[in-house]
Amino acid sequence: MLITKAPKGTEDLLPAESYKWQYLEKNFKTVCDNFGYKEIRMPTFEHTELFERGVGDTTDVVEKQMYTFNDKANRSITLRPEGTASVVRSFLQNSLYAQPLPAKMFYNISCFRYENKQKGRLREFHQFGAEVFGAAGATVDSEIISLAVTFLQRVGLNDLTVHINSIGCPECRKKYNEVLRDFFRPKLNELCDTCKGRFERNPLRILDCKSPECQKLGEDAPRLLDYICDDCRSHFDEVKRNLDNMGIAYEIDNGIVRGLDYYTKTVFEIISGEFTVCGGGRYDRLVEELGGDSMPAMGFGMGIERLLIRLEEMGIKLPNGNGLDIYIVPLGESAVPVVHELVYDLRKAGLNADTDHMGRGLKPQMKYADKIGAAYTMVIGDNEIEQNRGEIKNMQTGEQTELELSEVLDFFKELKRSVIADFLKGDNK
Ligand code: ATP
Ligand code: MG
Repeated sequence: MLITKAPKGTEDLLPAESYKWQYLEKNFKTVCDNFGYKEIRMPTFEHTELFERGVGDTTDVVEKQMYTFNDKANRSITLRPEGTASVVRSFLQNSLYAQPLPAKMFYNISCFRYENKQKGRLREFHQFGAEVFGAAGATVDSEIISLAVTFLQRVGLNDLTVHINSIGCPECRKKYNEVLRDFFRPKLNELCDTCKGRFERNPLRILDCKSPECQKLGEDAPRLLDYICDDCRSHFDEVKRNLDNMGIAYEIDNGIVRGLDYYTKTVFEIISGEFTVCGGGRYDRLVEELGGDSMPAMGFGMGIERLLIRLEEMGIKLPNGNGLDIYIVPLGESAVPVVHELVYDLRKAGLNADTDHMGRGLKPQMKYADKIGAAYTMVIGDNEIEQNRGEIKNMQTGEQTELELSEVLDFFKELKRSVIADFLKGDNK
């Protein structure tokens, strides 16, 4: 039954789980605010050429993974496999280079890659990302890395390791590519077919191949870091110094060349458990490559599904910020309109309030309230209406408080005030 089965590699986000995504989104935005990054939203699809040019036609993403189709006017369209190329396209199209620089932006997007489904690998997945345009200095590199680290630590990922490397500029890479070709030439026949093609066009890509044979053949390859020019070396030294000063621990990892073609100088990955949750780097040549003036830039993309898997594996519970404050049980027919009116008033005043729609009795309603996670419940029947009083029950402690029906809202206002007071006193730690 195709109708009741979503395409392979896609996932629904169900109502009971969505608070986790909202929590991550809220925190990512807060951290971006802290660092001075503003949100950008781009279309989900672009002209195929943008990714061929922007991501690079010798990459796995472009060679094997793109969702490309012709639209009804026969244009080649591709569902975005990543965010950076679209951000650069938008930066050029909207002349953002003419606004104050550096331009600092973040995004929260879905991405599409035709990959084999496995844990942490989907065909539609989601990324948080951040990009900076217009500044060539190493402080940008350390700022971008520290933004990603700050966010990940803030949501509880406390086992992360930052891996960094420098892949130099096109000048140092030209030299290194020759050294690398000399290294792979005797093994050329043993490389996978894709890498045979890469040997002439872009031998660096061979080091990023996922095939175990190619990985093994590349194990003793000469290190790019030994071939970078003085300028690239002093840039890398400064990035390391900045990270040291910020107290951000890192490892130098010569294996990181990154999957996308456009990187220059600093590249980095943030790893947790078996996953790379975040990858990024400097891409000083991409804006020019896509038709703009020379413009240094740096950014990262972070896989949200992988982050959630890691948080789950580590037993980190994310707070549910949109739970129900109160569920009110109407007992008897005459209570129904009274309760509906009260619930409506509470909702308008900003409380998360709910009541019965199924005509159920007391017990099943209490069970339902408990299941949907109501913080408080209240039962209103003929007695309560007559005396204009009722009891509000804390579902966690079982504690009951008697109050007038018109005081329900004040009760929650008082509750909020005391939570804030506790927070200010530091009692929430
Ligand atoms: P990998 O080496 O794991 O294939 P990549 O180098 O292709 O990753 P990037 O293009 O750097 O990944 O994307 C940034 C982040 O997006 C990755 O670090 C990962 O967290 C996430 N990501 C990439 N591809 C997928 C996918 N198919 N499913 C889920 N998350 C993904
Ligand atoms: Mg990949």
